[in-house]
Amino acid sequence: MEILKAENLRAYYLLDIGGELKSVRAVDGVDITIKENEIYGIAGESGCGKSTLIKTLYGMVEPPLNVIEGRVYYKINGELKDIFSLNGELGKIRWKYISYIPQGSMSVLNPVARIIDSFWDFIGSHEDISDRVRWKKHIEDYLTLLGLPTKILDAYPHQLSGGMRQRVTIALATVLTPKIIVADEPSTALDVVAQRAVIQLLKDIQKNLKNTIILVTHDMGVHASISDRIAIMYAGKIVEEAPTEVIFESPKHPYTKYLIGALPKIGDKSYKISAPGAPPSLLNPPKGCRFHPRCSYATEECREFVPRLVDIDTNHRVACFLYSKERE
Ligand code: SF4
Ligand code: MG
Repeated sequence: MEILKAENLRAYYLLDIGGELKSVRAVDGVDITIKENEIYGIAGESGCGKSTLIKTLYGMVEPPLNVIEGRVYYKINGELKDIFSLNGELGKIRWKYISYIPQGSMSVLNPVARIIDSFWDFIGSHEDISDRVRWKKHIEDYLTLLGLPTKILDAYPHQLSGGMRQRVTIALATVLTPKIIVADEPSTALDVVAQRAVIQLLKDIQKNLKNTIILVTHDMGVHASISDRIAIMYAGKIVEEAPTEVIFESPKHPYTKYLIGALPKIGDKSYKISAPGAPPSLLNPPKGCRFHPRCSYATEECREFVPRLVDIDTNHRVACFLYSKERE
């Protein structure tokens, strides 16, 4: 059952560059349907629009970011609601219905307050916390459920390791048991051991709360270990979407193949599909298929027309002329 849906979503940064209004097309025609209880991964290199996409899905659209076209719906009490027409309601459902774990989220914790005080501040701004005893128990039970020691509540952020701070931040962002969690690179910038702990924590949260997680990371190894389905994003568009095992075992889009091929494999000296260069500027993306300057299969058609994201199999969508001639 679907829980969140985006239809033809376009979100651009409108910037004044030298007196001229320019648009950075960070999210440029995205259609996705996210199901209840799944971990939906969004992958792609830096600068492909992943962070902007989840910010927009979260409804965090502030100038210079603008929704140019399209809709985002959440299923609330069995009904699909257009979030951009919820206005003040959106603020009310945040953290209880949907929560957001930003990139570099350690900044969420107040550096000069004990962890418990960050919890009081956070919960107090959404709930009536006059019954402190009951809420303290809720916080402690929740930490225990997630395998985190309750004694960290008395610590100051600087007394915890970076990995523990990140896990505490995630616990804080999910303590009101939201149905949907969006997380932007939650394990990036941590060492390997701390990364694993964060990924395990997200898995445990999903298992315990039976909620939906939308996870953005450029790290395909993280997706392999946690995501149920993966959307590959390139230059503001989803270019492929499939269950994780299909993405890894039978990738179709040349860009997905490049991302998979870029995974280091011990002892693997086999030929890797090269995609030299970097994602294009979203201010001036190339005409036609945006991947064409880096694609070794590019033809005249690719340089001229934009391939449409189409179903090539059950639960498998691809936007590439090698698989379908449909154009946008
Ligand atoms: Fe490559 Fe053409 Fe497919 Fe784009 S549409 S990925 S340029 S083959
Ligand atoms: Mg990002």
